[in-house]
Amino acid sequence: METKIKFSQNRRKTVGSRIISGVMHIYAPAGMPEHQLNRVIDNFRKRFEKKQMKKELNSNPERLLEITNELNRKYFDGKLEVKSITYSGEQDKIYGVCHHKRGDIIISYRLKEMPDWVRNYVIVHELAHLLQPNHSADFWNLVNRYKLAERARGYLIAKQGLDPD
Ligand SMILES: [Zn+2]
Repeated sequence: METKIKFSQNRRKTVGSRIISGVMHIYAPAGMPEHQLNRVIDNFRKRFEKKQMKKELNSNPERLLEITNELNRKYFDGKLEVKSITYSGEQDKIYGVCHHKRGDIIISYRLKEMPDWVRNYVIVHELAHLLQPNHSADFWNLVNRYKLAERARGYLIAKQGLDPD
């Protein structure tokens, strides 16, 4: 990302930043050591990129909910009440979380790069948690209605050694 730095005698300590049409403008105190400034800029950049990613991830929430409703119809007779499903940019290690009391599902951004059938497995997994907020035999009976469940689990385990939560 293009960065423009402006030093100001009026600034004492803090560094400011603004994004103007894709360019990051940095306002820094005059005489700030370079390594310190670089670190601050790095943080700004990371924070901005995270925000940007989150925005892009959920740019089409209707589509994700549509997919979820379809899976709900197919595997749960459409009986489940899903209030929302969103991608999270924070979830690195967990593929999905279900707040079963609220009906909210959050899935990891990492699923975006994986095949649809793997993503759908995670959604089915989280949907099943709306009925069974545990990993009991009853829970797995629900999940295994999804034909590719075993394969998807293998895929995810191979990727990272982790299951959806
Ligand atoms: Zn689970």
